[in-house]
Amino acid sequence: MAVLVTGGAGYIGSHTVYELLERGREAAVADNLQTGHREAVHPKAAFRRVDIRDRAALDAIFQELAIDSVIHFAANSQVGESMREPLKYYDNNLGGTMTLARVMLDHGVGRIVFSSTAATYGEPERIPILETDRTLPTNPYGETKLAMEKMLEWVANAGGPKFVSLRYFNAAGAHAGGGIGEDHRPETHLIPLVLRAAAGQSDYIDVFGDDYDTRDGTCVRDYIHVSDLARAHILALEYLEKGGESDVFNLGNGQGFSVMEIIGAAGKVAGRDIPLRIRPRRAGDPAQLVASNRKAGDVLGFTPLHSDPAGIIASAWKWHSAHPHGFAQA
Ligand code: UDP
Repeated sequence: MAVLVTGGAGYIGSHTVYELLERGREAAVADNLQTGHREAVHPKAAFRRVDIRDRAALDAIFQELAIDSVIHFAANSQVGESMREPLKYYDNNLGGTMTLARVMLDHGVGRIVFSSTAATYGEPERIPILETDRTLPTNPYGETKLAMEKMLEWVANAGGPKFVSLRYFNAAGAHAGGGIGEDHRPETHLIPLVLRAAAGQSDYIDVFGDDYDTRDGTCVRDYIHVSDLARAHILALEYLEKGGESDVFNLGNGQGFSVMEIIGAAGKVAGRDIPLRIRPRRAGDPAQLVASNRKAGDVLGFTPLHSDPAGIIASAWKWHSAHPHGFAQA
């Protein structure tokens, strides 16, 4: 029996496949390679290049590979793009999840761990953010992720697969083995862009806003190591396998770091000063996003192993130094 990882060629998905295999589980990957990388797929995972909106292709995978659980990452995930092309997000994110849920029902597959996001909260009511806080997304990316969570909830209520939705804060870092890491095209995330500036591949890191109501005026985020995220998915799967009820959990470190603190930590890791310039605020960025990770600790037994940003950045720097242009193939 295998765990199907949709989007297993993407950043967090590929790390989760490594984690599954390192724990002796069987993994299959379904990915259309629209944003994922074939090279990121562990060689021991069965790989099928399919779009999860293709019901017949998914059906064949469930049949052929004896799938008994799903970890669902396949989705578009860029906030800015979602503002420009909302229907792309409704079609792929919501439509893809609907097809996946149908195929799971057809095959009687009873468990799904779902890749959700802190973007479901929108502008937070308070810090740290609790799972019970208001969800009011401010962009189609967060809106479709919230709708996917709700779809899974209604399907579970109707006797379908049980689910765990994991709302990630800021994923960062790379696998300790050095073979996989972060490679988004275009790259919009802070840490890889800071490391490009550290490596001299760009002239500056742009700091989007220094007039927020935070300790140094720059935005505060909760950075969590991608391998900690990956491990949390396995814990969530085990929780469902032990009969746990469907539920939603935040995944973060529970500690916030500002953009300037991240740039400072990256400078120490890289051993050089990183040139920066202050730019206007980026539309839609809340001043602070920090998780309460208490529920994941209490219920799933999750504790992040990498809580120090320097360690997280060091793993990203190792990947970046060995792969300055990311994976060989887009
Ligand atoms: N950020 C920045 N410069 C960049 C990219 C990001 O100052 O080139 C800031 C961004 O405004 C946010 C934080 O870094 O406050 C993290 O942004 P990222 O895009 O990595 O993740 P997000 O928090 O948007 O999910």
